Amino acid sequence: MATKSLILNLTIDNSKNKVLFAESDKDFVDVLLSFLTTPLGTLVSLSNKNSLLCLDNLYKSVEDLGDEYFKTTPCREMLLRPNHAAEIDCLDLPLNVHGDRPLIYYTCSQNCAHELLSLYANALCACGSKMMRKVKVVRGSSKKEPGEGVFLKCATRFLITDNFTVIPASTQAAFNLLGCAGTSLSSVVEKQVSVGLSEIIAILRQSLIAEDTFTNVFLEGENANELEKKNSPFALVSHPKPCSDPTDNFVGIKLIVDKHKNKVLYAECNQDFIDILFSFLTYPSGFVIKSLNGKSHLTCLDNLFATVLSKPMADCFKTEETKEYLVNPRLYSHFRSTKSLVKSDEAVPARYYMCRTPDCVSTEVSLVPNVQCKCARINNKKSITNKRMKITDPRTSRASGLSDQGYVSVATYIVTDDLVVTPFSVSTLTRMIANASEGVVEIPVNIGEKEVLALLEAALGSQAVFTDSFLIKEETTTNAICGDDSDCVIV
Ligand SMILES: [Zn+2]
Ligand SMILES: [Zn+2]
Repeated sequence: MATKSLILNLTIDNSKNKVLFAESDKDFVDVLLSFLTTPLGTLVSLSNKNSLLCLDNLYKSVEDLGDEYFKTTPCREMLLRPNHAAEIDCLDLPLNVHGDRPLIYYTCSQNCAHELLSLYANALCACGSKMMRKVKVVRGSSKKEPGEGVFLKCATRFLITDNFTVIPASTQAAFNLLGCAGTSLSSVVEKQVSVGLSEIIAILRQSLIAEDTFTNVFLEGENANELEKKNSPFALVSHPKPCSDPTDNFVGIKLIVDKHKNKVLYAECNQDFIDILFSFLTYPSGFVIKSLNGKSHLTCLDNLFATVLSKPMADCFKTEETKEYLVNPRLYSHFRSTKSLVKSDEAVPARYYMCRTPDCVSTEVSLVPNVQCKCARINNKKSITNKRMKITDPRTSRASGLSDQGYVSVATYIVTDDLVVTPFSVSTLTRMIANASEGVVEIPVNIGEKEVLALLEAALGSQAVFTDSFLIKEETTTNAICGDDSDCVIV
């Protein structure tokens, strides 16, 4: 993985101190497109838990929850550092927001008969031991042809708007963008900037909170403070109230509602619902945008997603498969769950091979079979990477030897309206209901697929996730007393 700098030519409206568009080659666009393969949990950590409101709270809840609340040791790590199906391809990117390090996976001891590989430390091997031996993923030569990118193939240059619509460069495209902005040519200036890893992470962070991404990262002045504004409460105005098909699977929760304010104080639920919420962190952003029909409230990423499907870009992708990586990202089997209630296709994992000669000292796992192992020189044998390693589900528990596909232990939990998750405790409960002057009412809700998608959408666009997803707002607030079915409607 060669980290290098990319050059971006910015076209700026000097009178407004705003970037009109950036011009780049396919390498930079490839890096932008990789944002769609990035799981939400990784977006939260790259933005220092300071951009995605409720998801930040969800992420911090995973960090704060005691070890005893996770089914297995790797579960917390899976949520905080989720891997994604395109991570091997992303190693070819000139700048990789997923990390500038080799991939490290884990095996049991070299002499264990089970040929298992885990993407997380301390997963349980079939022999009963924990898999703690670090192995480094090495690749043969890259699959890329010279001149090809990771997702794109053409040598065209691209114009990228400040909110991430990408268009192959042409005179007409440039004039359209200048025309749309109502800019006179006399106030247009150009600026060349160099983009390294820190700049690309700054671009990613900005894209999550504002639509003036390049302006905020590269220009100084008024616009540079734009990022503070987005943190204002966002109300879902015309949110369709969900109504799941009664044949769906359901997970039951209880909403504790402040009668006077018609606001959910918290939800009381069991582990199944927490698994659903925590799973959000493992979803690649492209998967989220697809599940929400292109409208995730992450406007820049929505634009990027629409770009992949746009007509002008149709001939720019290497294959239909690379395009699928972006607009239909699949989840690894160990991130899927029948309980998550959101439909997802399973990614075909890469094949991994190791030399399993007893006492082999190599700590490399190869993506190509039958490569001569380092140990061959020492023990004079024909040691080759000829054993295909099976990927294990790190959620497999010692008690059953099976994965029941969940992350958290059996318990009762409390989730606030802005998605702070804590184990149930009376002191939390009394603190939460202390200010509900006219008391509270408990409302049971069945969560099916439509409700989960409504919650996912609200988690990205609201700070009152349950209230906005499940309570119908009263037009007049004077008599908005919630307490009987006629006043407070749950759908
Ligand atoms: Zn073992
Ligand atoms: Zn070997």
